[in-house]
Amino acid sequence: MQYFSHPACLEHDPRQGLHGHPEQPGRLRAIEAALAERDWLGWERRETPAAREEDLLRVHPTPHVEAIRELCRAGGGAIDADTFAGERSYEAALHAAGSACAMTRSLVAGEAKTGFCAVRPPGHHAEPERAMGFCLFDNVAVAAALALAELGLERVFILDWDVHHGNGTAEIFRHRDDVLFASIHQGGIFPGTGAREDTGSGPGEGYTINLPVPAGSEEALWLSLLEDEVLPAATEFRPQLVLISAGFDAHRDDPLANCRLEASSFHRMGSVVRDAAGDWGAPIGAVLEGGYALPALAESVVATMAALGGEPCPS
Ligand SMILES: [Zn+2]
Repeated sequence: MQYFSHPACLEHDPRQGLHGHPEQPGRLRAIEAALAERDWLGWERRETPAAREEDLLRVHPTPHVEAIRELCRAGGGAIDADTFAGERSYEAALHAAGSACAMTRSLVAGEAKTGFCAVRPPGHHAEPERAMGFCLFDNVAVAAALALAELGLERVFILDWDVHHGNGTAEIFRHRDDVLFASIHQGGIFPGTGAREDTGSGPGEGYTINLPVPAGSEEALWLSLLEDEVLPAATEFRPQLVLISAGFDAHRDDPLANCRLEASSFHRMGSVVRDAAGDWGAPIGAVLEGGYALPALAESVVATMAALGGEPCPS
């Protein structure tokens, strides 16, 4: 089990331009304090290099990468009402994507069976040519594209359990049949995409699974969608690598959405994915997305890592 992060991820701070922004460095500090208290659950910690530009360019066209770099070089600024990049944000974003790449290399090489990337800015809302929803580059998509283009894999399964639809990842792989993308999310909130009827396009038809849930949804519904719809499809797909867009904003304490999961719910979801991935012979890597109630976020990350490592849920 390997844990990936980099101090640069603490230097991106949307509060510099957007007052009271919930996506703030304290999120990583809360996670790391909770893990330190538990001796990191026995996981090996790795400080990861920046992503190479060629890694970003597999999913984001050059003008998007250059626009973010130049905005940061010029001192930064708000990109939209939710999304900000400051002077240090390009560096942070490179290390966020770089962590996902380093984890993927490690998993594919068999150095670890499971990994967790505690990184920010998050990624799953970043579309090919557009930063949005706190996200600059799509970290999990960059990692999946690396696995397929450079590491010899043919099938990658991305499970997005953030409470918001992973519109960026969905768009990036919409036309492809070598990435199965499944998202469980609260319907009717940001970003407004992710209808059940949207199952991908062209050769990617059937390789996108969108499962919106209503406000107030609890663990039983999330778990049943995962067990009854997502995992059977993934079993048929026979993934060689599982990547989780691991947001924790479906927790009942989260201020940005209205679902009612507990930290233990993330342990249950992590455990069933771990069992399934064991059957497929595929390693699992999780990449942090949302989660804005700090104690709930920290507790949920600990629970998820315990599950991925095959340990019981910490009380
Ligand atoms: Zn979210």
